[in-house]
Amino acid sequence: MPRGPSPQKRAADKRKRRRLADVVLDRLGERYDHPTWTGPRVDTVSELILTILSQNTADTNSFRAFTALRDRYASWNEVLAAPTDELEDVIRPGGLAPTKSRRIQHVLAEVHEETGGSWDLGFLGERPLLEARDWLTSLPGIGRKTAAIILLFNFGRPQLPVDTHVHRVATRLGMLPPRTPLVRAHDLLEEVLEADEMYPFHVELIRHGRDTCRAPRPICGLCPLTDICPYFADAIRGRVPIGPIPKDRIDPDPPPRFHDELIHGWMPPERPT
Ligand code: SF4
Repeated sequence: MPRGPSPQKRAADKRKRRRLADVVLDRLGERYDHPTWTGPRVDTVSELILTILSQNTADTNSFRAFTALRDRYASWNEVLAAPTDELEDVIRPGGLAPTKSRRIQHVLAEVHEETGGSWDLGFLGERPLLEARDWLTSLPGIGRKTAAIILLFNFGRPQLPVDTHVHRVATRLGMLPPRTPLVRAHDLLEEVLEADEMYPFHVELIRHGRDTCRAPRPICGLCPLTDICPYFADAIRGRVPIGPIPKDRIDPDPPPRFHDELIHGWMPPERPT
């Protein structure tokens, strides 16, 4: 059986992640206006459906699909009772409509049963954290990231959603070993963040991933983290690619661009009826 790292190595790695988190929170906080959680963006069932629609597609498409769904149906009861092929047509702009339409109705059926038809998921803010998370991840198609989005964004609970941007930026910075599986990435980062750091860390890394630390070529010339970044150290040795600074950003203090309104359906739609 392969042996994992020793306890000493694990402790040293954890201290390193914490030191990096301090620098990242400080410098990216400065750059991206120290984001703070100010309450839910939408009701919890809407957030859940939005996150399903956002799976494997761009936020713009998932938001279009969500808007179409809200325009077509007046309540969650109607979505649940709709013929599945009809729902599939309605959410087609979000991609993977056959899978997502079934998933949405499965999830709504579970929520309906759990809440006795009230659609009130407020218990997720009251149950012990891991119990609330386990309930969410027991739903069809809901994984650790989606559960973390619901718990953090709707209830301000200390969970860190690790999406593609958070994973990429944290890996380049050496906070995650290369190719860390998603669930493990959540554990490693949550382990070193304080409860009130999860929201800013999440939003700052998404903003940085969109503005500067882009895939596949980061614009390191715009980044305040080059002195601590192993990816940048490799880049100056010519081992990995970086992108040039765009002409319109060659300014000593260029404003970042991160399209924040679309983070996981950030733009709040109307509340359900
Ligand atoms: S230095 Fe480059 S690779 Fe490292 S975090 Fe900044 S943009 Fe990303």
